[in-house]
Amino acid sequence: MHIDARDLPNHSTIEGDICIVGAGAAGISIALDWSKTGKKVILLEGGGFKYESQLQDLYKGESTGQQYYPLHGTRLHYFGGTTGHWSGFCSPFDDIDFTKRDWVPDSGWPISKEDLDPFYIKAQKALQLGPFEYDLSYWQKEIENLNAFPLDKKVVWNKMWQFNRARFGNLYKEEIVNSNTIHLYTYANVVNILANENVSQVKSLEVKNHAGKTHTVKAKQFILASGAIQNARMLLTSNSQVKQGLGNDNDVVGRYFMEHLEISTSELWLLKPFPTDLYKYNGKPRAELAITTEAQLENKILNGTLSLNPLSYSKHLTPRMEILQGDDYKERFENYKKDLVEAGEKAKLENSGSIERAFELDVRIEQAPNPNSRITLSAEKDALGVPRISLHWDLTDLDKNSIRKINQLVGIEAGKANLGRMKLKDFLRDENDNSWPADTNAGWHHMGTTRMNNDPKKGVVNENCQVHGINNLHVAGSGCFTTSGAANPTLTLVALSLRLSDYLKEKII
Ligand SMILES: Cc1cc2nc3c(=O)[nH]c(=O)nc-3n(C[C@H](O)[C@H](O)[C@H](O)COP(=O)(O)OP(=O)(O)OC[C@H]3O[C@@H](n4cnc5c(N)ncnc54)[C@H](O)[C@@H]3O)c2cc1C
Repeated sequence: MHIDARDLPNHSTIEGDICIVGAGAAGISIALDWSKTGKKVILLEGGGFKYESQLQDLYKGESTGQQYYPLHGTRLHYFGGTTGHWSGFCSPFDDIDFTKRDWVPDSGWPISKEDLDPFYIKAQKALQLGPFEYDLSYWQKEIENLNAFPLDKKVVWNKMWQFNRARFGNLYKEEIVNSNTIHLYTYANVVNILANENVSQVKSLEVKNHAGKTHTVKAKQFILASGAIQNARMLLTSNSQVKQGLGNDNDVVGRYFMEHLEISTSELWLLKPFPTDLYKYNGKPRAELAITTEAQLENKILNGTLSLNPLSYSKHLTPRMEILQGDDYKERFENYKKDLVEAGEKAKLENSGSIERAFELDVRIEQAPNPNSRITLSAEKDALGVPRISLHWDLTDLDKNSIRKINQLVGIEAGKANLGRMKLKDFLRDENDNSWPADTNAGWHHMGTTRMNNDPKKGVVNENCQVHGINNLHVAGSGCFTTSGAANPTLTLVALSLRLSDYLKEKII
């Protein structure tokens, strides 16, 4: 069922069993998981069914620290959320990502990979990916010519990825609009969360839109699923009862903002031609070169991978951190896509059918948890009267040293195997150099602002994604990640959301 909140009489009260804020990958996955329970699901979406610059403007904010993309250009504000323009590359987190590593400050989730595995299987379905199979040997039987580089398996392994650019807004609109139990409200921006007197339970949400309407939403259980930055913003701005915002008694909300660093770090020159189908971006399952748990432990580094890009192509690319700067988000994104196409055309002209032997290696690495990398509220307000956000993105020496070491480890193994020779980019040569290059790109992956830890002093949510101290308020999405893993976040955030969904079913049904 679909209701446009602009058409409701002003000051309406909306009531249901469970209320989900945000119809993106996380929110839609949970809503659909509840559709057969017979319970009334309220799904609140701030936007409509398509892109509107007025809505997108609500995401604007300021950034300090390491250069970041303009914030309103990193998330989409309408039904389907950011799956409306994501790239669709998926891989699960590794076992090590969930463990406490003494060289990674604040690492260690209260849950293990095993706890998530059943939900990864469900998440694969929600994202319309293939089977939950990420072993190279499985895919070698399915697809021809997936030849792995002959590198020492004690140091380097092949981390598999699947790909599907699932646009939730298109895929699931009909099912949700036709559902009797899911009540989707569009143009329903949550601007405030109101708790009971002793702030142990949410009483209601306040919803606003550009039509000047304000509504109240009541439910037994509430889930914030509006993206890592917006979820933290909502908790921080709900400060009429507690000055520091809800769930923020220990000043953790908004801290530990993490991204995946995606930077061109080295070149690999193969000594002989080698079939590289396994490493190609061609829409099929593919691999990235990853560092084994043992080697991470021995070298005290973060988890990261290297992916191959033909040098003939990558040398023509403009750093996307540069191309995407500017106010006009749509125009910038078109320029970015044009740059990719033009680089491809130039590479084709230069190659004239020869087999690639020179590759750029791009790192994809977790960012070490860092309390100084954070979002706070800015003094400026948006059109609905909500304080905008301010991001301070802060990287550490551990991030940089790990990037250098990952490249060195792969380089040594490529040399030993007589596969090829590697050349580090200048910014990685000097161990005392802590600068970051102009193409310090990020993956558009927002993580960690409402991190999971069973100790309220160290986390915003507990192992069940419940906000500490507020028994009917939960957070869904990558904001709950304690550490960010090497893999892109969406598969894991959908799995975690479905785990939360199951937990709440036990509570309510
Ligand atoms: C260019 C790009 C490429 C990407 N590629 C990949 C990739 O290859 N692999 C990968 O894993 N990830 C990728 N991502 C990240 C991926 O898009 C996100 O991880 C994912 O969309 C997050 O899902 P979500 O549901 O948490 O948030 P969102 O998808 O952002 O959805 C949040 C929803 O909440 C709504 N909302 C926001 N505020 C409010 C409010 N106050 N009230 C009501 N509703 C609200 C929004 O309108 C939106 O519909 C990419 C992102 C970008 C930008």
